Amino acid sequence: MKEQTVPYKIHLAENEIPRRWYNLRADMKEKPEPILNPATKKPITREELLPLFCEECVDQELNETDPFIDIPAEILDFYKMYRPSPLVRAYCLEEALETPAKIYYKFEGGNTSGSHKLNSAAAQAWYAKKQGITRLTTETGAGQWGTALSMACGYFGIDLDVYMVKVSSEQKPYRKAVMETFGARVIPSPSDTTAAGRKILSDNPGTGGSLGCAISEAVEAAMSAGNCRYVLGSVLNHVVLHQSVIGLESKTAMEKYGEYPDIVIGCAGGGSNLGGLMAPFMRDRLRGERNPYFIAVEPASCPSLTRGRYAYDHGDTAGITPLMKMYTLGSRFIPSPNHAGGLRYHGMSSILSKLYHDGLIDEARTAGQTSVFEAATLFAKYEGTLPAPESAHAIKAAVDEAVKCRETGEAKTILFGLTGTGYFDMAAYMSYKSGQMTDYIPTDEDLEAGFAGLL
Ligand SMILES: *Cc1c(COP(=O)(O)O)cnc(C)c1O
Repeated sequence: MKEQTVPYKIHLAENEIPRRWYNLRADMKEKPEPILNPATKKPITREELLPLFCEECVDQELNETDPFIDIPAEILDFYKMYRPSPLVRAYCLEEALETPAKIYYKFEGGNTSGSHKLNSAAAQAWYAKKQGITRLTTETGAGQWGTALSMACGYFGIDLDVYMVKVSSEQKPYRKAVMETFGARVIPSPSDTTAAGRKILSDNPGTGGSLGCAISEAVEAAMSAGNCRYVLGSVLNHVVLHQSVIGLESKTAMEKYGEYPDIVIGCAGGGSNLGGLMAPFMRDRLRGERNPYFIAVEPASCPSLTRGRYAYDHGDTAGITPLMKMYTLGSRFIPSPNHAGGLRYHGMSSILSKLYHDGLIDEARTAGQTSVFEAATLFAKYEGTLPAPESAHAIKAAVDEAVKCRETGEAKTILFGLTGTGYFDMAAYMSYKSGQMTDYIPTDEDLEAGFAGLL
């Protein structure tokens, strides 16, 4: 065993929770491309966004100048219930890998939603309440976002309708039950409560639904009800902003022991956890102070950064949301049904897309799902936490980097985001354990079909 130089778990004190979020765009010399109005194809204005999203979120979405934005006391109080989250030194995993590397992970799964999504859910629910909004709508696929938002809305006393992809609500009845416990109404989508849902149902009576369909229903419901807004749990600039608490806490914790990452790794679905984890370290790079190496990891079956196009695209399958310039597989791309590892989103945050395009995120790599579950199982065994399949993409890359260090003898410091726990993903773990899980990599022709839908 290596000599123990830092605690296994570095816990910060409550008063070390950041008081301000960090807005990465303020330090980017080249800003992400503007969001466009889908009707006019012109940069979208504040006024055009206000009917859809809460006012403070719109202002944060469009804010490219203020590097730090105060976290309101009400949100901070909510954060105190489950933050600061621990930064863990993976001594046991290092020992198992016989690596000289130092591996750290920031664990965001220690709340009932089981993921980092609560960091933005709390913020968005509070801003809605402050504005006098009484009802929110959203969609959820796997269920983490719907659960996080249910918790935040329950706490702040806001009605919530969650349009949950029908197959997912049938496969994960406990997710639905958790959301209902916090007071949300869960509507399997497609439903007969919206025109979009009714149309899809009459066109395909037996359909199990899709994320795109659930978004259409949630947006329609928000726009047609009074005092109601729609909220999203990833991709958007303000969501990446809220997630900066992950990176800010990580940096403070590492600094206490004179540590700084050589490599920062995150899984990438819509980009919010990676954007938040890397934010203060990217700030150092943008300001020419430090030069860590950044790695984004995505599923081989949904490879937006590695095989997508950098183009304007809709955030949803139905094509009603604003256009964002991002790495995308096309908003009509749907990953293979045998893909169980999460991170199924077709696009990527425009901030991360820009940083990657400009070479500031050094590398994006893919991982096949069987190798992801292999890494998840190894990690669970040695670190005692059952990871979410999404998080296990980052674990896989961290393990690979640590093994490289074993070969070269370099003692690099690796930091990765452990975004959540995997209790609701046991069907996928069982499929891996029984040897039934397969890897599916889309062919170029498969991807062409998605690109064909691009503008
Ligand atoms: C939603 C989710 C992700 C992916 O979303 P990002 O916006 O890319 O962070 C990763 N891990 C977990 C546990 C999630 O719930």
